[in-house]
Amino acid sequence: MTDIEKQLEAFLNEFEREGYETGAGLKDEADFTSIYERHAGLFSHETAAAARGAVPEENGCGTLVAFLTVNIIDNALKEAMDELITAELKATIQVNGKEVPLRQAQILISNEPDPAARRALDAARLAAQRKLNPQYADLQRRSHLMSLDMGYVSYTDFFQKLEGLDLSVLKAHTQKLLDETAGVYEELLNRYRSALLPGVSAADLEQCDMAFMRRASHFDDLFPAKQLVSSAWKTLAAMGVDAADNPNIRLDIERRENKSPRAFCSPVRVPHEVYLVIMPHGGADDYNSFLHELGHTLHFAYADPALPVAHRFLGDNSVTEAHAMTIEYLSYCGPWLEWALGKSESREYLEFMDFFELYMLRRYSAKLHYELALHGGEYGLGECAGIYADTLTRATSVQYSPDDYLRDVDPHFYCARYLRAWMLRRQIVSALEQKFGGAWFTDPGAGRMLHELWSLGQKENAEAVSARAGFHELNMDAIIAHYRQANARQESKEN
Ligand SMILES: [Zn+2]
Repeated sequence: MTDIEKQLEAFLNEFEREGYETGAGLKDEADFTSIYERHAGLFSHETAAAARGAVPEENGCGTLVAFLTVNIIDNALKEAMDELITAELKATIQVNGKEVPLRQAQILISNEPDPAARRALDAARLAAQRKLNPQYADLQRRSHLMSLDMGYVSYTDFFQKLEGLDLSVLKAHTQKLLDETAGVYEELLNRYRSALLPGVSAADLEQCDMAFMRRASHFDDLFPAKQLVSSAWKTLAAMGVDAADNPNIRLDIERRENKSPRAFCSPVRVPHEVYLVIMPHGGADDYNSFLHELGHTLHFAYADPALPVAHRFLGDNSVTEAHAMTIEYLSYCGPWLEWALGKSESREYLEFMDFFELYMLRRYSAKLHYELALHGGEYGLGECAGIYADTLTRATSVQYSPDDYLRDVDPHFYCARYLRAWMLRRQIVSALEQKFGGAWFTDPGAGRMLHELWSLGQKENAEAVSARAGFHELNMDAIIAHYRQANARQESKEN
């Protein structure tokens, strides 16, 4: 291992540990700034150039240089970023005469059954957001300027060249998804709006209504808290994966006051120290997010320890997201709910989740199209608020507010990683079902296939993993076909 790789690994270990300790409620305040300061030498053009000469290609030199270069921007913006996070933590909204932290607004909105009260909460949230937008805009402007200073024509150009990812190809795949699922989506959206959002007309449908719809608390009985961890271990054992006894997997299940209520995974030392942090409270959402984070945990904890640091920690995150989504998929899978939890009455839940995933796919497709406009250099920031609301509203038939045009942006085109992960997950699941049948999660052959993919870390990108799963292209075709079939089944049932 070269010196640069050793330094990078030390930085990543400290960075992930800080994320683990603050998220798990073991520390009161996050201090990422001093970690960047301790490793200041890493994030400079000189180090990136030196890495290009020193790190062999088989150690993932391109990936490593891309990471260092992207972090030159993040490092320059770290104080402004910390200020924004602090401002967001301190921001409050008024709810029934009481002051409530802005960060709780989304939770309140998801749990508010009355449409008028939900809209009042969202209006208060957006008013607080408008006050933060100048800080968001400043960060965006500075990162755009820095990419121009490095000689790229736009931030999009900077990202594509460094990461070796052609976003216009992904844009075409997502446009196909938007076009070919428009009919089935509108039909499903209407059905669920009438059933779950009484008093909200099609023309009045807003993003806050979808947050409430997604909460779907009436399905929570399907997912008891006490079976959350045991059902996962039972599944992995059936597949011949010894996760319960793997010392690399550190399950943090203790209750702590400041622990994040949402499950997360911290790959502190890959593969030897990977934390899976949860506070089980039961319900569909808890299972979805726990299984998702478990997928990340398995991917990191079973990575081949002999891989270079770039292939254990960095690379195409579409791959780790696809592994996370594959395990998460268990909670959208009727045979698994029956086998693992003994629930046979899950059809209504499964159909709903299937619809909601289509909403999310369309939302993320629109996010990609919008972010290409935001980062493409063609439009001023002032124009982007309107483009955001138009693009998202057109794709989802749900009204989006222009005030969210900078908050609802994933750093470094992470929306593209999710979209690629969705395509890859569908292919991995299809391959598992084809080889091992509908109950693939009980077959040691499926365990071996997944273990082999996990062991690669992120040495290979999503296209290469797709080829390993037996596909000739990473695209939306299997997803589109799935919704067409579901629609045809529905129509034949109605006739
Ligand atoms: Zn994830």
